[in-house]
Amino acid sequence: MTAPPTSSSGLEVLLSALQNDGDVESTLNTLNILDELLSAGTDRRIHYMISKGGSEALLSALVNTGCSFCPNYTVLLLLLHLLAKVGHRDRGIGRKAQDAGAVLVTLNLLKHNITHAKRAAACLWVIQVFSSSVSTANLIGANHGLDIIFHLIPQYTTKHLHTIRAAINAFAALLSTKANVRSVVCKGYVSSLLRLYEDWHSKDTQHVAIAIRLTLLCCLQKVTHSTAGRQAFISQGGIRLLYQTTQTCLSKGLESLVEPSVQLLRKCLPKTRLPLTSDQSAYTFPLPGRPGAVPDVDLAPDDSSEESDDDEAEENEEAESRDYDEDLETDLNKLRLRPDPDRPKELLLQYSRLCPELSHDFEELDLSSASSSSSSSSSSSSDEEAVLLSRVSPCSSRRDRRRSDSSSNLSTSSSGCHSEIEGHSERHTEEHTPAAAQLKPRDFHSHSSILSTSPVSRTMTGEQRGDAPPGLRGDEQVDEEEEEGAEESHHCTMIDRLLESHGACVPHHEPKLYRAAAARTRSIPGFSILAFPDFWGHLPPPGHEPMAPRKPNIQRQKVFEDIQRFLNTDDIINQVVFDLEDSSLQSPSESLRFFSNFECGNLRKAVQVRRYEYDLILNADANSSQHTQWFYFEVSNMVTDVPYRFNVINCEKSNSQFNYGMQPVLYSVREALEGRPHWVRTGTEICYFRNHFCPAQDRRRTTFYTLTFTVTFRHNEDVCYLAYHYPYTYSALKAHLKVLQKSVDPSQVFFRQQILCGSLAGNSCPVVTITASPTSRAWKDLHQLRNRPYIVLTGRVHPGESNASWVMKGTLEFLCSSDPVAQSLREAFVFKIIPMLNPDGVINGTNRCDLNSEDLNRQWCKPDPVLSPTIYHAKGFLYYLNSIGQTPLVFCDYHGHSRKKNVFLYGCSVKETLWQSGSAVNTVGLKEDPGYRTIPKTLDRIAPAFSFNSCNYLVEKSRSATARVVVWREMGVLRSYTMESTYNGCDQGIYKGLQTGTRELQEMGMKFCQSLLSVTKDMKAVYSRSLISSINLDHNILDHKSHNCFEDDEPPCVEEIEYSSDCPALKGCDLDSDINSNMSDSDEEEYGDEGHRVAKQQRGSMGQLQQPSLKSHLLPHLIRPASTDTLSEMKHTCNGRNFSNGHLTS
Ligand SMILES: [Zn+2]
Repeated sequence: MTAPPTSSSGLEVLLSALQNDGDVESTLNTLNILDELLSAGTDRRIHYMISKGGSEALLSALVNTGCSFCPNYTVLLLLLHLLAKVGHRDRGIGRKAQDAGAVLVTLNLLKHNITHAKRAAACLWVIQVFSSSVSTANLIGANHGLDIIFHLIPQYTTKHLHTIRAAINAFAALLSTKANVRSVVCKGYVSSLLRLYEDWHSKDTQHVAIAIRLTLLCCLQKVTHSTAGRQAFISQGGIRLLYQTTQTCLSKGLESLVEPSVQLLRKCLPKTRLPLTSDQSAYTFPLPGRPGAVPDVDLAPDDSSEESDDDEAEENEEAESRDYDEDLETDLNKLRLRPDPDRPKELLLQYSRLCPELSHDFEELDLSSASSSSSSSSSSSSDEEAVLLSRVSPCSSRRDRRRSDSSSNLSTSSSGCHSEIEGHSERHTEEHTPAAAQLKPRDFHSHSSILSTSPVSRTMTGEQRGDAPPGLRGDEQVDEEEEEGAEESHHCTMIDRLLESHGACVPHHEPKLYRAAAARTRSIPGFSILAFPDFWGHLPPPGHEPMAPRKPNIQRQKVFEDIQRFLNTDDIINQVVFDLEDSSLQSPSESLRFFSNFECGNLRKAVQVRRYEYDLILNADANSSQHTQWFYFEVSNMVTDVPYRFNVINCEKSNSQFNYGMQPVLYSVREALEGRPHWVRTGTEICYFRNHFCPAQDRRRTTFYTLTFTVTFRHNEDVCYLAYHYPYTYSALKAHLKVLQKSVDPSQVFFRQQILCGSLAGNSCPVVTITASPTSRAWKDLHQLRNRPYIVLTGRVHPGESNASWVMKGTLEFLCSSDPVAQSLREAFVFKIIPMLNPDGVINGTNRCDLNSEDLNRQWCKPDPVLSPTIYHAKGFLYYLNSIGQTPLVFCDYHGHSRKKNVFLYGCSVKETLWQSGSAVNTVGLKEDPGYRTIPKTLDRIAPAFSFNSCNYLVEKSRSATARVVVWREMGVLRSYTMESTYNGCDQGIYKGLQTGTRELQEMGMKFCQSLLSVTKDMKAVYSRSLISSINLDHNILDHKSHNCFEDDEPPCVEEIEYSSDCPALKGCDLDSDINSNMSDSDEEEYGDEGHRVAKQQRGSMGQLQQPSLKSHLLPHLIRPASTDTLSEMKHTCNGRNFSNGHLTS
């Protein structure tokens, strides 16, 4: 044989020689040359050979040789090995094998050689390779291939490990199809596989057969893809067996077996329904115009076993990221043209009342300021507002009624304070009656006597709900003055004396004002108890709080503990100790006590699992069965120095910052009474992972996640509060606005709190105006005031995003402050702030939605005036500003982001959206003001928590109904943003590695205001230079900023356990090394103790590059001298990385 002429490559000549049934010797020679060629090069050579019909040539040679009456096994073996090597890299090999009729030939060869280890192994590898095609695998299964192969897998032995491995690998490959899995499960092989695994596990003490054990796990993994397979696995004791074997593997450091075992256990652990009677929220609210609450549960009884086979496949988050680019809006009309307004112009006039700065005459500037300041600032109710107020008579009559009720009750309570305390302490007869100053935390647990908002429980009645036109009740101040009057008679209660002696002096917080505000807050359940932290106030703790280090393998450890719950029920208590819907439930004296019946509270049920472990179930959003994530509850009756494990078992998000250093927050009443009123980050052993719970009734395949954390309380008998994030209630906002209003000097600051509208439940949605009072009533000054550009800020549309409220608190306090930057901002702009767009959601502890079970930040396109009043009127107000030529210069909606670190902005840019989407639209002629980047750029310089690199300006279709996009597109606001603040902390800048506290969140609110200086227009020259320098610009911050590329959401958790069907046991290099080592056995008939050698080889090839010697030709002893010449000639060319006219290039 000589090198082929240029017209056809040497390879093609070899392949055609192979197909032209020649004599044995020339076939052998051809095969040897091919083997030599393929062994020397990289995979590219094999792929080249495949492209030249290599697979077909080998298959046809196999059929020719295999079908002969007395096959030549020397040729056959070589053929099979080459076929395994080549076919393994040929995606079409299964189909090609069927077309060539090679599938059953191979199976037949196997049948005739089951006692012949080497031949059997060669057939098995080829079968494994063929099984990459579903129809081929099914064909083999239908021809008893599964049974033949399964019987080649014996109990533990050290003999023929190669063949056994080949059999298990082939078996596992066949199990990639549903039909084969079904057949195997029907035949009871699940039990056999388990027994096999147990046998190999217990007898393979030298760990020489790890690969076999791993592939057995892989087979189990595949058969349990079906419901029947999982059932068989459980009924055959698979969970206990796997659990026990895994514990041994752990102790012996056999990591490679632990992970697949845990994966299998998690998959097979039986689904447990949440211990609830209904998935629907415990809170329902009848919506106006709708008969009764509309359950959103899809009760279609559709849970056939066939369908649930694939339940691992659906992953909501994946879909989200995959479709991201397709989600970008590329329709230029939708990006650039404003749609028609969603309402007639006449409806906009009503919002003129929300611009009192335009009509106010500032008479008070002429009066002597000091004495009249407070009354003047609150006397803003116009005639129009008086009219509006009288229109909502049901409310005012209710108010009168309550006032008379409360005054009588209040007198009782002030005189009977002591007896109430005594009555309470009867439950603790061993204790003395605590005097006010010695009040213990647990006394606060008697909520009704101490922390009640008002003696009258405020449940809602129909008249308050929707019959008054939404909103526009008028000015807030009128109501609150009355409340304060009532407050005066309250002065001698015990809580007052306690405040006097222990009061926390939290800036901008007055407990009594808080209580007064809370008494007016309307909740679905009629909350009458205050949570202590909200009442008492919170100060950021001194010092920084670093992110919590993640314990190695914490998820695995928690999963094991959960599996133990299933296996070992001896220490399982499983007792409900708290039920939001059953107030009569008495918790056992030994257990923790839970409570969540207060504003923003969210805990539906607590189940004591073990002595110091509790499952917590969160309440779905009102009128809904979904969106559980936010929690806030009280816990008491604890023992100090005991680690309590809490498992929030019905979280819905697929990943969480809890896996990346975030901790929940805790507030201790005792610590507060000792002068440390702090929400602090707390908890160890924190982990967030997919669990085995499923909805109580819901037939949809919802997946739940567990947030687990362990808390060791510092004090016995304390009362503590635990929350997802720093709570910020609606009442806190109301009280805060009141404090701010009192704090400003009206000659400097024009501050107005008005009502945008009423919420569905009848709570007012405040809108605040802040600007500088004019220096005089001169026309020039008033003209300047009335021509200031507007800045509109909104927040907390998503109730679970309490971080947004803390940022807003920082914004409000800064804008009301005497800081010179604040002063010039007030002189430059009129601020219109709607701090809480979703009061009802916040009050009732929902996570995402309003009472209409809608995400309000998806309602902006066409908000319903009745069902989404706050959005309807916020948008109406923006339209109004538009109509009077005062389109806001900046709009920003404050949010929290649960899966990212830092604080960042989303904006809107046509050009960036089109570029990112790869749209064909020519953007050259498109003009776009790049000013939307000014604020993010400034923030990157001045705000330490801010990350410019996390910002983007893309307009997504799925976000087309959000505030940011609608305000940008419909109102033409260039700088329209969503501000996202992390729940966790920062991974850049001076806060890197720290969790954010309320101090940092408030600072962000302040910095956002400061950044607005960068968009002042005519004032720029006057103010910018001097003021930017007065902003405490730490240059270190600049240097700390990392400018790496755009970061996406956190990567999957380091420890994430996938439910993938891919089995790591079946890797390509393993197959190659198996083939090579099988062939290098010089005498195929010699059966010895292969154990040690195989183990050595396995260790050698484990994930390593193969040694050149291993990759060399398969049958060195069979190469005849005649072919060696040719080979060396060819090899020469090969080494030059070139073979036959450049056809083979490596
Ligand atoms: Zn949000």
